[in-house]
Amino acid sequence: MELVEEDRYRFRIAREGDMRVPGVVFATRGLLADAEKSLAQVVHVATLPGIVAASYAMPDIHWGYGFPIGGVAATAVDEGGVVSPGGVGFDISCGVRLLAADCDRAELAPALEEVMDVLGRTVPRGAGPGGVWRLTGPGQLERLLRGGSRYAVEEGHGEERDLARCEDGGAVADADAGQVGPRARERGLGQVGSLGSANHFLEVQQVAEVYDPPAADAFGIAAGQVCVMIHCGSRGLGHQICTDHVRAMDRAMARYGIRVPDRQLACTPVDSPEGRAYLGAMAAAANYGRANRQLLTDAARRAFGRVAGRRLSLVYDVSHNLAKIETHEVAGRRRRLCVHRKGATRAFPPGHPDLPEDLRAVGQPVLIPGTMGTASYVLAGVAGGGAFFSTCHGAGRRMSRHEAARKVSGSQLRARLAQDGIAARPLSWRGLAEEAPEAYKDVGEVVAASEGAGLCRIVARLVPLGVVKG
Ligand code: 5GP
Ligand code: MN
Ligand code: MN
Repeated sequence: MELVEEDRYRFRIAREGDMRVPGVVFATRGLLADAEKSLAQVVHVATLPGIVAASYAMPDIHWGYGFPIGGVAATAVDEGGVVSPGGVGFDISCGVRLLAADCDRAELAPALEEVMDVLGRTVPRGAGPGGVWRLTGPGQLERLLRGGSRYAVEEGHGEERDLARCEDGGAVADADAGQVGPRARERGLGQVGSLGSANHFLEVQQVAEVYDPPAADAFGIAAGQVCVMIHCGSRGLGHQICTDHVRAMDRAMARYGIRVPDRQLACTPVDSPEGRAYLGAMAAAANYGRANRQLLTDAARRAFGRVAGRRLSLVYDVSHNLAKIETHEVAGRRRRLCVHRKGATRAFPPGHPDLPEDLRAVGQPVLIPGTMGTASYVLAGVAGGGAFFSTCHGAGRRMSRHEAARKVSGSQLRARLAQDGIAARPLSWRGLAEEAPEAYKDVGEVVAASEGAGLCRIVARLVPLGVVKG
């Protein structure tokens, strides 16, 4: 495969073989070292029926199930375009929420260790069951799958403003809980309000630098301010939905005459019983993911309130693993598209009608976790944003979990973080080691490439003060 440099931040993989569209990779040469396997996945995705424009990759691209992580692909719904669960990933609606505290670092400092201790004790995490909200039974789960964080707020776990600052107002209307299988429900019932495992975290941060004051002001963050970043998804429920629907599509594909170069790309037309079933279940998992982050917000607010007497208000909540039906202009025509974003964040431009009024002038906040030892970023959507208004979702892995666990000692890492003034509350040494800063690319380079490629603009850099790891 030949990677043609179109400019410093944009590369093209020309169409060949079964590719229906070219590949377009937003990155720098440096970020693409060792990207062979994930670039082959960009090529595979380009063969999907109904794909339009290009198979896109973001600067944090790395290998994933079927689609690369950092992959964006849109298919034309009314022209036989497909939906593929591998284009969303196993952690459906995994995403990031940022909260801003009413204090700066110096004001929180005397209480920080205790805040971290309380968070470490009260935030449910790890692979198994247990969440901040014990559902009373299947009826309540049903309401949560339909109502998302709206339902959590109605039940007293948040404030009305939280919904305005959450993508889709906290819930999507097209959830079809009937397509969520019994095993997925069973797994989901006991995990509402929990982080999950090690790539997921709740981090206390400080705004280190503001690059775009008007946007930061509209988002409600300022230099020095304390923030809380929450990264998690839809736990076992989303995972099981992905497993169930990949299996169903794998069986059904041949009936639609679809052949894919990799079974992990199992797909059927959006407009087919299997496609509709998946999208309905996926939307239910998206609502579950938002409710999950809303309940963890509740836990963080209680800890901050009790220990430090501080309040947290929501800056924004956005998913980075989701497929959405959106209308975009492609080749001079407005078309209904199924936009898959997997390890990629939607980044609506200024003026977009789906943004809350107080954010409309500056564009959508985009939340980019980096690592627990370096930095994270807040970005904003821009006019003319590429890849159907999408950008990166993180630093992106450089080492596999296995390699990181082999090279890094968790206890030494915790000591190193403590020396840098970062209070880590890990669940296990191995989990901490797997997420070591050196296991990831340089997040500063990733966001600079994203901005350079015209996908977003950088608003602020945040540095970690303490982290609760799943
Ligand atoms: P993913 O959704 O692909 O699992 O993770 C998204 C991003 O989260 C990763 O690419 C990585 O940059 C970031 N990340 C993982 N662990 C941590 C952490 O403990 N703190 C911060 N700030 N970011 C992290
Ligand atoms: Mn996840
Ligand atoms: Mn994630």
